[in-house]
Amino acid sequence: MSIKNIESITSPGRPHFVGDGFRVHNFIPGASRSGMERMNPFILLDYGAKHYFPPSDKPRGVGVHPHRGFETVTVAYKGKVAHHDSSGGGGVIGEGDVQWMTAASGILHKEFHEENFSKKGGDLQMVQLWVNLPAKDKMSPPKYQAITKDQITRFDLPGASGTVEIIAGEYKGLQGAATTFTPVSLFTLKLVSAGQADFSFPAGNNTALLVIEGKVVVNDQAVVPADHFGLFLHDGETFTVRAEENSIVLILSGEPINEPIAAHGPFVMNTDTEIRQAFDDFNNGLFGYLED
Ligand code: MN
Repeated sequence: MSIKNIESITSPGRPHFVGDGFRVHNFIPGASRSGMERMNPFILLDYGAKHYFPPSDKPRGVGVHPHRGFETVTVAYKGKVAHHDSSGGGGVIGEGDVQWMTAASGILHKEFHEENFSKKGGDLQMVQLWVNLPAKDKMSPPKYQAITKDQITRFDLPGASGTVEIIAGEYKGLQGAATTFTPVSLFTLKLVSAGQADFSFPAGNNTALLVIEGKVVVNDQAVVPADHFGLFLHDGETFTVRAEENSIVLILSGEPINEPIAAHGPFVMNTDTEIRQAFDDFNNGLFGYLED
C-alpha cells in the first residue's frame, strides 16, 4: 500500500445563490481544471458554508425543478431543509441527516428552509452532491433514501479521538446505510483536536475531502483549513487525517464511471440526444406534477 497524496487545496470561491435559500460555494467541478470527469462519479458538489439567515415568514429556497440521470445527496450540518417531490415524497432533512435521492429517469422537486427554522432564523450549513449513474441505470425508477442521524453507522476511533460516520461505503468492516449503484464511499469524520484517522481507497478512485469545521493536516504535510476542499492524486491508496483543532470533514471517494458525460442544467446524461430528450420529456409533462 502506498500513500495517496493531495493534488490541490482549493479555497472557497465567490458564493452563488441557488434560489434564494442556498448560498453555496461550488467545489465540483469548480476545484478541478478538467470538468465533471475529474471527480466522477461525484459530478457536482455545492457547499453551503455556515451562513445566518434572519427570520422569515416565507421560507427561502428553490422552487420546482427537474433532475434526470443522477442522484442528489443532501447532507445537513446545521439548519433544516424541507423537500417535496412529484412522486408524493417529502420530508425534512435535519441536522445530522442525509437525504439520498435517486432522480434517475426523472423527478420534479423543490427544496426550502423548513417552516419553523425559517420563522426563527438561524445558521444553515449543508452539502449537496450530485452522484452520477451508469448509463444502464440512468432511466431506472426514482427513489429516496432518507437516512436520519440515528441510522448512520458510526465507527469510534481508538483513543477517543473521534468518530467516522459512514453514510455510504465501508470503513473498518462497518457498512453505511446508503445503497449505491456504483462503489461510492461517503463519510463524515469528526475528530477531536490532535485526533487522527486513516483511510484506504483504491488508487484509481476519485477522492477528495471538504473541511466543514476546524483544521486538519493530511499525511502530516498538507494543511486544509475550514471551508477548503482537498483533491487527492491517484498515486496510492492510504492517507491520514489529523486534526489541529476539533474538526468535521466530509470524505468522498468513488470508482469513476468511464462513460461519456453530457450535462445541461439539471440533466446529466451520456449524449446530447438524451439531453434533448430530457428537455422534451420535461416540457411534455412526463416528469409528473408538483405544485409551486
Ligand atoms: Mn434539486
